[in-house]
Amino acid sequence: MQGRRPDGAGQRVPRVVTRGRPPSLLTVRDQIIACDACPRLRSYCARVAREKRRAYRDDDYWGKPVPGFGDPQARLLLVGLAPAAHGANRTGRVFTGDGTGGSGDFLMSALHRAGFANIPTSRHPDDGLALRDAFIAAAVRCAPPDNKPTPEEIARCLPHLDAELRALPRIHVVVGLGRIGFDAYLRLLDSRGTAERPRPAFGHAAVYRLSSGQILIGCYHPSRQNTNTGKLTAAMMDEVFRRARRLLG
Ligand code: SF4
Repeated sequence: MQGRRPDGAGQRVPRVVTRGRPPSLLTVRDQIIACDACPRLRSYCARVAREKRRAYRDDDYWGKPVPGFGDPQARLLLVGLAPAAHGANRTGRVFTGDGTGGSGDFLMSALHRAGFANIPTSRHPDDGLALRDAFIAAAVRCAPPDNKPTPEEIARCLPHLDAELRALPRIHVVVGLGRIGFDAYLRLLDSRGTAERPRPAFGHAAVYRLSSGQILIGCYHPSRQNTNTGKLTAAMMDEVFRRARRLLG
């Protein structure tokens, strides 16, 4: 029997329900968690979960693909990059547990100031965090080595974003967190046969009205690399969510 290539080349895309009645978020969540379409990423996540970081050695790592999180009636969708190896891959919730002052806290404090989150931090799954009118998804649901998924892995994970979006009937404004999140949303539109022409270019706080009537906004990713160097400041992120809030009315 032929073995699977470690990079997942030749893999089938994940089997997700995309036709007929939209799937429930719960169904989509189960499909994401059960996905094993990318051998490279699955084995990396499992290894990280087994070996752990010293600071988290007493934790039970999640170690599986991470579904989106938020309000099922959300009108605002955020599309990030991928789970962090010791953040969401450990806690099982997007943008959660990547350390004090990490991307989860940075993002959540901005969402809190804009009225989309009830608390300004995102530390662990039972911290009481609830999003209002917002949902956070990602281009890739498994933590990639060096935070770098391959183009094939990004393409393979797209059906999960598609299914999640179909289960979120009220989305009106989409914020692409980083170029990969921004492009993933445009690729999703391509795959649905509704490609945007001219193609929106990624830029921080750049706002595009799409032919569907939805709005797409670019935002630098709140990675430590961006926030520690001042490429992305709290004020810059506030500007993005202020615009989103205004566009939602
Ligand atoms: S990255 Fe996406 S497609 Fe690949 S195994 Fe994880 S959930 Fe499945």
